[in-house]
Amino acid sequence: MKIQYLGTAAADGWPALFCKCAACEKARKYGGKNIRSRSQSIIDDCLLIDMPPDTYYHTLQYNLDFSAIGHILITHSHEDHFYPADMILKAEPYAYFGEVPNICVYGNSTISSMLQQAMDGSGIDHIEDYITPVQVKLFVPFTIGAYTITPLLADHMPNEDCYIYCIEKDGKRLLYGHDTGMFPPQTADYLEQTFFNLVSLDCTFGLTPWEHGHLGLPNIIEIKEKMLRQGCVDQQTQFVINHFSHNGKVIHDDLAPHAARLGFITAYDGLTLHI
Ligand SMILES: [Zn+2]
Ligand SMILES: [Zn+2]
Ligand SMILES: [Zn+2]
Repeated sequence: MKIQYLGTAAADGWPALFCKCAACEKARKYGGKNIRSRSQSIIDDCLLIDMPPDTYYHTLQYNLDFSAIGHILITHSHEDHFYPADMILKAEPYAYFGEVPNICVYGNSTISSMLQQAMDGSGIDHIEDYITPVQVKLFVPFTIGAYTITPLLADHMPNEDCYIYCIEKDGKRLLYGHDTGMFPPQTADYLEQTFFNLVSLDCTFGLTPWEHGHLGLPNIIEIKEKMLRQGCVDQQTQFVINHFSHNGKVIHDDLAPHAARLGFITAYDGLTLHI
C-alpha cells in the first residue's frame, strides 16, 4: 500500500488564514514543508481519506485525476475533513465524462445526513446517480475492492462518533488516526489484537502534552510504547505524526529532526510512504 499525505494541517491551515502569530510568520518565512493545507490523504492513488475545502488545491498541486475516485472515507464532520458542498461538483453540469460515474462516501450517521442534505439542496436531478452516502458502523469491517476497512472510535467530539480507520490490503495494515485524543477503551481493546505496519496519529499540539480531542507528541510516545509492549507494532512499523496546528507552535523544520530522533516521521504536504 502507498499513502500520500495531501494536506497535513488542522482546521486553521498553517499559516492560518487571518493569523500573524510567530509560528505562522515563521512558516511564511521558511515556506516549503512548513506550509500545511487542510487534512487529506490518498491510498494507492485511488482511496481518498477526507474531503476538506483544500481538495481542489490538492488536485492541482499533486496532478491528481479525481474523476477516477470512486470511494472516500470520511473521519468526522469538522469542516477541515468534510466540506459537502464540493461533493456536488461530481454531478453534471459541474463535471462530465468521469472515469467513474459515482462516488461512494463512507462515514458515520452525521456524514450521511449532511451529505444527503447537500444533495437534496443541490437542485440537481438524479444527483443520487453521482453520489452515494454509505453509513458504516463502528468496529464492523467492510470491503472496498481489495481493501478491508474497520472504523474505530476516536476521542474527538462529545456529540458525534468520530472515526479513525484501520485499512488492510494484501496482509499489510495501517491505522489512520486523525482526529483523536488518547484512544477510548473499545478502540484500545481492538488495537491490542491487531498488528500494524504503519500508524499515523494526530499531533495537533506539537510538543505540548494533550490527551483529549487531539494529541501532542508526549502522548503519542506513550501510545507507541504501549503498542510496542503489546506486540501490535514492531521496530519496522512506521510511526507518522500528522495534523498540525500553529497552536502547537513548532514548524516542520524544527519538529522533524527532533521527532526523527524519537522514531517518528513528521508528515508534510506531499509526503509519500509505502508499506
Ligand atoms: Zn481536524
Ligand atoms: Zn498563527
Ligand atoms: Zn476534528
